[in-house]
Amino acid sequence: MIEVKELTKSYGPTVAVNSVSFDAHAGEVLGFLGPNGAGKTTTMRILTCYLSADAGNATVAGYDVFEESIEVRKQIGYLPESAPLYTDMGVLEYLNFMTQVRQLPKSQRKERIRSVIDTCGLEGVIQKDIGELSKGYRQRLGLAQSLIHDPPILILDEPTSGLDPNQIIEIRNLIRDIGQEKLVLFSTHILSEVSATCSRVLIINNGEIVANGTPEELASQAKGEEIVHIAIRGPQEAVEAQLNELDFVSQWTAIETSNGILAYQISATQESNAAEELFHVVVQNGWSLTELRQESADLEDVFLNLTDKEQTQVQKQQSAEQADDNDDA
Ligand code: ADP
Repeated sequence: MIEVKELTKSYGPTVAVNSVSFDAHAGEVLGFLGPNGAGKTTTMRILTCYLSADAGNATVAGYDVFEESIEVRKQIGYLPESAPLYTDMGVLEYLNFMTQVRQLPKSQRKERIRSVIDTCGLEGVIQKDIGELSKGYRQRLGLAQSLIHDPPILILDEPTSGLDPNQIIEIRNLIRDIGQEKLVLFSTHILSEVSATCSRVLIINNGEIVANGTPEELASQAKGEEIVHIAIRGPQEAVEAQLNELDFVSQWTAIETSNGILAYQISATQESNAAEELFHVVVQNGWSLTELRQESADLEDVFLNLTDKEQTQVQKQQSAEQADDNDDA
């Protein structure tokens, strides 16, 4: 239903989307997961024909997004991050207006309005003006407008952003229901959202797709690594220099450093028996060990690993360079 090949888009010097490729099929709820600024909105705007790309190509339901934008728009329902609502319109008036914008035949308009009111649970507010609606109901109405022409594909940009926990659960359930019949591509920066809602996840970071798979597949990828939580009483600089030197440590993150106790989350290669090795390192250096706990990796670790990795690698490289400089001196 969606095929994207090597899509690239820059804003001046900022490369927002860098050679992104993926495809999506009918019957999927595809989560587009990444930190703020990763390039999710830009990709969605290109797919919905609101932006052109610098390079690459994309088709939606077989139509080219650059050459056949009118056809593409007919296939897609789009909910941008802030729902496109006119606050001084009534709810029914707005939905009626959207049937006209979407050029639905007059004979179908009533039936389509009734259908989206049912699907999105809007019955209780149809007499209200949009300006009177809570944020949750506004988001439902935004979803309703995206469904009004019964498109096979829905593209939703951060649909739960700014909602309270109950509203978030309602919108997630709605997305899951809609996903039984349509292809839904939605973006989020919240990890639990994809585990709760998606059949497949694309993780995007710095404009690039860094992982693609079901939540279970991605979590099992992480099983190649061990996660160790360790807390040490010792000199911070020396402890961190030592962590940088250990070959079996692929990444470490400082969790807390207070009262002289340094707590770290460490990712290590699985064959290393990292917990035992770390124990020996602490003893050899004469530091005290106040906690040592091993965990199996899950989807959260994959996400943190993929989106934080560059920073940690830079950190490791800088420390190594500093050590070399010190040796030279
Ligand atoms: P996301 O939706 O994942 O938060 P975006 O696609 O909005 O990411 O942004 C990707 C990058 O492009 C960011 O660095 C952002 O600052 C930049 N960007 C987005 N829109 C514009 C714009 N209109 N002008 C300049 N830079 C932009």
